Amino acid sequence: MSGISVALRVRPLNSREQGTTAAARCLTVDEAGSSLQYTGRDPPPNANFSFDRVLGEASTQADTFEGLKDTVASVLEGFNATVLAYGQTGSGKTHTLLGDVSSPTERGVVPRAVAELAQGMARYPECRFKVTLSVIEIYNERIKDLLDPAKDNLQVIQDPVRGITVAEATELPVAGERDCVELMQLGIANRAVSATAMNAGSSRSHCVIYVVVEKAHADGRVEFGKLCLVDLAGSERQDKTGAVGQTATEGNLINKSLSALGNVVNALTDPKGGKHIPYRDSKLTRVLQDSLGGTARTVLIICCSPSLFNDAETLSSLRFGVRAK
Ligand code: ADP
Ligand code: MG
Repeated sequence: MSGISVALRVRPLNSREQGTTAAARCLTVDEAGSSLQYTGRDPPPNANFSFDRVLGEASTQADTFEGLKDTVASVLEGFNATVLAYGQTGSGKTHTLLGDVSSPTERGVVPRAVAELAQGMARYPECRFKVTLSVIEIYNERIKDLLDPAKDNLQVIQDPVRGITVAEATELPVAGERDCVELMQLGIANRAVSATAMNAGSSRSHCVIYVVVEKAHADGRVEFGKLCLVDLAGSERQDKTGAVGQTATEGNLINKSLSALGNVVNALTDPKGGKHIPYRDSKLTRVLQDSLGGTARTVLIICCSPSLFNDAETLSSLRFGVRAK
């Protein structure tokens, strides 16, 4: 039992793709089940892929969150949990995690998770809870605080009580979903400013949102649970994006965090077990050290485009998801 479950979400065709040759699809989803067929160019010998959940093009934000409820709720019991969105740029990662944060139907996983936690707390009238939120960005192996962007190059430390922590990252209290929405809007705005400054777009950075729940029991015991929600950098090959002015170092460092994540997940899911888990190989995996593996529950959401135009990247994402099972 690796504690990792893998969901696949296919976004609908967008308006640019519809009515063009890009409207041809590279995926056939079995709407009732948890498998799909890759129908792109260059299909592998076995083009059938199955996951713990498959969310087709018609899936809603609510459908997507449904499969995450138990994982989110485990944080109230003092466990750590992680939701990762993986996929090429434009595949729906940010839509899935944030969506339209202020719309009741279009809001994504993060605001829904905060609302779910707030509701769940009512089940423990004898406990006192404190919930805080932090938002950081990892770009070129440097950690920046997105709630206070003046704080750059933050360090990861192991706190004896709270576990792996980003030292000095701003932690703001959230009393409910409304606070969360405000903080997310601030984080999103700062991420956009940061992306413009690095002349790259947010697709090359990883964004990690932490919700930390402190639960004080009547007998004085205090438990901590941490929910990490991760909007990963685009998984597309860096040499294909046509980015101007991108340095070789930058490309290498971005791939470093994503490939380190792949290595950690593969080591955790190795059926032989007992493998060394290379958390220290990148900032991203270091930040997630106590939130991936062990008693932590993880859901990896593979986001992909159904367009034949994106078939190679979609196949590569399907393979990343399969290796994580
Ligand atoms: P990424 O973060 O992976 O680069 P986005 O989440 O920004 O991709 O999605 C790209 C575009 O597609 C956005 O305009 C987004 O609103 C839209 N989109 C993505 N997924 C869906 C979906 N499931 N339903 C409707 N629109 C979507
Ligand atoms: Mg995005």
